[in-house]
Amino acid sequence: MNARLEWRVATLAGIRTETATARTLLLDVPGWPGHVPGQHVDVRLTDEDGYSTQRSYSLAAPADGDRVELTVQRVNNGEVSEYLTDTFAVGDPVELRGPVGGWFVWHPSRTAPALLVAGGSGIVPLMAMVRSRRDARSRAPFRLIHSVRSPSDQFYASELRRAARDDGGLDIATLFTRSAPAGSVRTPGRIGPADLELYGWPPQFEPTCFVCGPTGFVEKVANTLVGLGHDPRRIRTERFGPTGD
Ligand SMILES: Cc1cc2nc3c(=O)[nH]c(=O)nc-3n(C[C@H](O)[C@H](O)[C@H](O)COP(=O)(O)OP(=O)(O)OC[C@H]3O[C@@H](n4cnc5c(N)ncnc54)[C@H](O)[C@@H]3O)c2cc1C
Repeated sequence: MNARLEWRVATLAGIRTETATARTLLLDVPGWPGHVPGQHVDVRLTDEDGYSTQRSYSLAAPADGDRVELTVQRVNNGEVSEYLTDTFAVGDPVELRGPVGGWFVWHPSRTAPALLVAGGSGIVPLMAMVRSRRDARSRAPFRLIHSVRSPSDQFYASELRRAARDDGGLDIATLFTRSAPAGSVRTPGRIGPADLELYGWPPQFEPTCFVCGPTGFVEKVANTLVGLGHDPRRIRTERFGPTGD
């Protein structure tokens, strides 16, 4: 069988708290075949009665032997995300298969500018790209725009602050939709054309655009980028819609 389609038993080796409702899960997956940033996995839960259900989760970090990182945002009454963020404990097993996806990916050999636009937990696969770029010492110019409700909803906040401070090739803009920190110049609100013009790349730079988040967010950003003159063929999207079977 294709190694990517094979279910493997992963063990939870550690947990990082990202926000009050999001956790990064550090999983050991014996025989993991490796992956490129942007790809995701399927996670399958099975209860004692044999009922099973699966969901997709993006890989949050570059390939690192048998270690895989996922960041899961708890969705209210969510069958799988509530279990993974509240109950799943170090030493517990879970089934996982992948990596999945070949279009929404960034290869460290790429030198073209990249514009990464995330809504909420859509930051996860884009963070894998930022980390991969750092590990590869790539000089591809990166701009990351992250739209979140409030400062307490930010994932990876201190790591991203450090990365932006230490790396002149990486610009990061965080846009708040509901409440912004005191002193913010931008009034809280949804991302719009002015934000993408101000914090993105001009279309003439021919950036590859990676847009990830809830379906409505992705549609809006992709359409706005096209309206601003970006070539649709350079806009890659990943929608975090419901993935139940
Ligand atoms: C390619 C891909 C990658 C993904 N990567 C991630 C990731 O890295 N991190 C992450 O946290 N999630 C990610 N998701 C979303 C994830 O697969 C699940 O949809 C999410 O965890 C909810 O599952 P659940 O079983 O908890 O909720 P469900 O029991 O399936 O749904 C509960 C309720 O929440 C609604 N709902 C379901 N999913 C969402 C959602 N994403 N946003 C808002 N409402 C929702 C449902 O319509 C339903 O009303 C990804 C989805 C896709 C397609």
